Amino acid sequence: MNFQKNDTVTVTIEDMGSDGQGIGRADGFTLFVKDAVVGDTVEARIVKNKKTYAYARTEKVLTPSPFRVEPKCSFHRQCGGCQLQVLSYEKQLEFKQDKIRNNLIRIGGFSPEDIDRCMEPIVGTKQPFRYRNKAQYPVGTDRDGNVIAGFYAGRTHSIVANTDCILGPEENREILEIILNHMRKHRISAYDETTGEGLVRHILIRKGFTGSEIMVCLVLNKKMTDASFKEAGRQKEGDKYNPYTYNLRPHEWIAGQEELLRRLSHVEGMTSVSVNCNAERTNVILGKEVVTIWGCPAITDTIHVRDMNRPDFPFTDRELSFSISPLSFYQVNPVQTEKLYSLALQYAELTGQETVWDLYCGIGTISLFLAGSARKVCGVEIVPQAIEDARENARRNGIANAEFFLGKAEEVLPEFYAGGESNGTEENRENGDNGHGNNRRGSREMCHPDVIVVDPPRKGCDEACLATMLKMQPERIVYISCDSATLARDLKILCAGGQYRIERLRGVDMFPQGVHVETVVLMSRVEGK
Ligand code: SAH
Repeated sequence: MNFQKNDTVTVTIEDMGSDGQGIGRADGFTLFVKDAVVGDTVEARIVKNKKTYAYARTEKVLTPSPFRVEPKCSFHRQCGGCQLQVLSYEKQLEFKQDKIRNNLIRIGGFSPEDIDRCMEPIVGTKQPFRYRNKAQYPVGTDRDGNVIAGFYAGRTHSIVANTDCILGPEENREILEIILNHMRKHRISAYDETTGEGLVRHILIRKGFTGSEIMVCLVLNKKMTDASFKEAGRQKEGDKYNPYTYNLRPHEWIAGQEELLRRLSHVEGMTSVSVNCNAERTNVILGKEVVTIWGCPAITDTIHVRDMNRPDFPFTDRELSFSISPLSFYQVNPVQTEKLYSLALQYAELTGQETVWDLYCGIGTISLFLAGSARKVCGVEIVPQAIEDARENARRNGIANAEFFLGKAEEVLPEFYAGGESNGTEENRENGDNGHGNNRRGSREMCHPDVIVVDPPRKGCDEACLATMLKMQPERIVYISCDSATLARDLKILCAGGQYRIERLRGVDMFPQGVHVETVVLMSRVEGK
């Protein structure tokens, strides 16, 4: 029998797919059922049918799963962000443990026995709500023409109004209401992606959870044209820039700007307000330029890292402070970040003598923790502002043995390696600066480091990067990944020649209620290879 679109069917959910959909069988068909969790029996409506499988959506839960819980947010079905909210937290962790394991077996080609020998239990959290320090709310217009901010409905770009996402801090609501009310009062338009018209595209809010400093960045559909302002707006790091006290003409990016800034500045913890210009007709949220229009150009947060297995180990229990500017990446779950970094440090097994690369280093968070336990650390990162932050962060924490390189990991590392293998003398190193603050000619010790740490974005590492890592022959590779599918693909490449083998691996739940999971893997070099 073949299902037709809009048929209803009763199905018991036996498993869950990697995007959080329920999986069940009916009449020899595999059904992928939205809004159903393992253990449910549901009545589902077919939305799309294929030869041997079909997609369906839950119409009614007939017998709820014992793992089902009451959702905390009334938008959980529409929202693209919380696919697992009706699944108990315990079961969410099990789902993520299985997801990592399955990807390593299916995509990585590792044997189940190998994975089970290395895999440690996933690190969960006691705070599965209100954990996010960053939110990016799209701004739009509802059917009646009112400006709204909220979130994209799953897999679409239609905006559902909601100013209180329960993954983020409560202050977000107050900030969004101030901005939306201001837009209504001054008739400021929201961006419309179908026409490319309208001013306000997104509102980015970031809060440093330790010092409670808040940053707001308004993403505007504008081009950065006022060059004099651009220069003036770029104050020295740490300067409190205030357009009322500075003797310069504040550029009016948005009608009634002074009034808006006054209101925002009254929010407790407000530290930085900036404008980001993005006139491109793409889905990319942020443009490349930021101007601070009130307060500091960055916020500060602190991270405390401890070695989980060796609490007495003197090097690894420390707190560092970080400056974070709007365009820089910063881990979104501060409670879990400390556990993630502790684990990475534990896997790196540093004694104080090692040379270490930290590829995809962002603002240098992991690099600077590694630096406390290593002889020398080099970080590589593609975003210029993040590299500026990283250098500032090394300075402010008094760390002198960390160096940061701006560029793509897959270009910086091979260039460094090529330079080092042919000219790795100190004299050449002195002359090797390429004008970006990068010293591209490698020293011999950094061409053959003891440890390489990588923490790439979801798409994983480029092959040129992996190939150079193999040539460098580090004793250990620590791979931190936010997508276990690309992780599995990359581990397969790294282990293919028999030169490396997986020693330990562990998931860390950075994204409770969502389907994503972070994984840390320790690989070590096989003797004699
Ligand atoms: N380790 C950091 C950042 C991890 S996120 C932390 O824990 O905070 C991944 C980082 O890789 C981002 O900062 C992103 O800007 C950077 N990135 C993306 N593609 C890159 C590439 N090809 N080369 C170097 N860095 C890249």
